[in-house]
Amino acid sequence: NTQVKMRRHPVGDLTDDDFVVEETALPVPAAGQALVKVLYLSLDPYMRPMMDPLRSYIEPLKPGDLMPGTTVAEVIETTDPELPVGSVVVCSMGWQTHGLVTKDTCRIVDPSAGPLPAALSVLGMTGATAHYGLLELAKPKPGDTVVVTAASGAVGGVVGQIAKIKGCRVVGIAGGPAKCRYVVDELGFDACIDYKSDTFEQDLAAATPDYVDVLFENVGGPVLDAVLTRINDHARIALCGNISQYNAEEPYGIKGLRHLLMQRVTVYSFVIAEHREYWPGAIAELADWLGEGKIAYREDIADGIHNAPKAFRSMLAGGNFGKQLVNVGA
Ligand code: NDP
Repeated sequence: NTQVKMRRHPVGDLTDDDFVVEETALPVPAAGQALVKVLYLSLDPYMRPMMDPLRSYIEPLKPGDLMPGTTVAEVIETTDPELPVGSVVVCSMGWQTHGLVTKDTCRIVDPSAGPLPAALSVLGMTGATAHYGLLELAKPKPGDTVVVTAASGAVGGVVGQIAKIKGCRVVGIAGGPAKCRYVVDELGFDACIDYKSDTFEQDLAAATPDYVDVLFENVGGPVLDAVLTRINDHARIALCGNISQYNAEEPYGIKGLRHLLMQRVTVYSFVIAEHREYWPGAIAELADWLGEGKIAYREDIADGIHNAPKAFRSMLAGGNFGKQLVNVGA
């Protein structure tokens, strides 16, 4: 069994030395357990704040802990007839090639229902996040201007497409011309602004002539401040992520508090893990939209568990193009 553990609490940008790869014996399933071989691992931004020894919604990792993560895996040995060999499950094995599950710690998936990695993206946690934050919290109305940051990413790409389905004008923000082109041409946003461009703030103003009614916020930092200068009266913000600050040694001080007050903005912060009951309905609706061709998505798949740290570091710097996964079996 190959495992990737956190070697120490990182400071600032991650380095190879923050991780350690270890080989251990394959675990043996006890009564009620099954041994699984991990097929795909989801790499998610939340794993970075978990590496910091700070108060959070979840217990931080300690040096020597296995890196956490949701996985798609195949049962290769079993003691439970309800988890037969060959069945495919979604479970939380973290950054390792094998692990043990019980029927209470995993969910069997039907491989014929769609491509397996989708269970870790649009038909999994990131899809549920997009659906919940937008529809349950920010509640856009037809005709609203909705701005989505990290728009080409796993959550952002789905948020914007749902907002289009709901009749909104949707403006994405992403890093670089290739991602912006994808957001408009493939995902169908009305516009996408490159925050790395020298004309970012002017471009954002031009794309939001009626100001911003809903912000789905994934990024924080100066990008958030730029959007706050365009925020409308009584706007709603779904505060989903803060990725620009996850590696920051000196947190960026938001200047736009003034606009939150003057424009009487409501901010909804949320963590989707707390709303498990919401997932099945949201995922069923996303599956319908996917089947009807109303939702497109893309994945960025690294090969091999050894490459998980590199892919994770790259994602935190915008190196991913679509939902970041690891093909653990490769
Ligand atoms: P993505 O697929 O969007 O990948 C992360 C993206 O963030 C990168 O591709 C990059 O896009 C962007 N990014 C990285 N650094 C910066 C920066 N300094 N400034 C601006 N953009 C940056 O990841 P996810 O869709 O999985 O996650 C998106 C956000 O949603 C994260 O903040 C995450 O923490 C949050 N999240 C929150 C959940 C919740 O329950 N609240 C659940 C799931 C995710 P680009 O190249 O365009 O810069």
